[in-house]
Amino acid sequence: MQATRKTVQIAVLALIILIPLFNYYGNKIQQKDEIAIGKSIPLAAIHSLFKGSDRDAVITLSHQVKGSIWTIDIWGLKISDPLAVLESSVTALYLYWPMILSIFIPLLFTLILGRVYCGWLCPMNLFSETVTMLRKLLEKTGYRTRDINFSSKTKYTVLILGLSAAYILGYPLMVLIYPPSVISREIFNKIYSGLWGYGILIIGGYLFMELILSKRWWCRYICPGGAVYISLSRFRLLRIKRNNNCNQCGDCVPVCPYDLKPMTQEISAQCDLCCRCVSVCKPDALDYTFSLKNALPKNTKATTPGKPNGKPNGKPKQQEKK
Ligand code: SF4
Ligand code: SF4
Repeated sequence: MQATRKTVQIAVLALIILIPLFNYYGNKIQQKDEIAIGKSIPLAAIHSLFKGSDRDAVITLSHQVKGSIWTIDIWGLKISDPLAVLESSVTALYLYWPMILSIFIPLLFTLILGRVYCGWLCPMNLFSETVTMLRKLLEKTGYRTRDINFSSKTKYTVLILGLSAAYILGYPLMVLIYPPSVISREIFNKIYSGLWGYGILIIGGYLFMELILSKRWWCRYICPGGAVYISLSRFRLLRIKRNNNCNQCGDCVPVCPYDLKPMTQEISAQCDLCCRCVSVCKPDALDYTFSLKNALPKNTKATTPGKPNGKPNGKPKQQEKK
């Protein structure tokens, strides 16, 4: 499952790069700018793929999919991040129905699968997980990484402050700091102008905080988009459920990026369906269920019976199933 999830994350990042690149290639073909195509390695590679194809058909195709993970248009079907629509609506003090409808698919997915966008699609998660691996490598060398705890409610404060600023100033500020938007914009600018912008510093800053200050700092504590997905995710249908196979080994506890406790069934709406806990559970005590609440199996206790302080029995192991 982890290999599948990683493949999806990398495929999404590849699409965030390839979609604007192909749009740009279409523009250059339309302008008959052979020099620009020849000078750029990615454009030349795309050009060789379409060698001999009908030029008008390639131009039309290149404009069928536009946008990015923040907001995308696929053959006329518009899909937007709920935070994008929320912030734009508050900024304009106007509900533009085509824009509202564009959150239907993300909304539906979140109400069924929960915060799956964070665990499987958001490019920031891929970068943060890489930093987490780097932290583990540093720890192996003897370096003691810090993991300062903030309130998990901070992200709701950021969301409320962002929406208040949009209302008062009439200007959307969260779009300037929200990773899916920043990453999409940076890649677009790099392709179209050849330059990186300040967004690189913003994302680099978040990742630096995660390296030196607190594990998964941005997604755990700060992200206003994460706050929106968590709020919706409270009503999700798909949940991870512990069954009676649980032997309270505690292997699932340290792998959870949000410090949820799958073995005690304390899986809040923060769960991003990364499935790590399910992957490490050797007795297959964690599986998936469709339910509106975190159901416990009969004859199991809601808290860890192993130790009075709620810590799991034994030393947790982190080896994942292949
Ligand atoms: S919390 Fe925010 S940055 Fe993190 S994965 Fe979710 S949307 Fe992306
Ligand atoms: S509870 Fe399991 S699936 Fe949910 S975030 Fe934690 S490790 Fe991932």
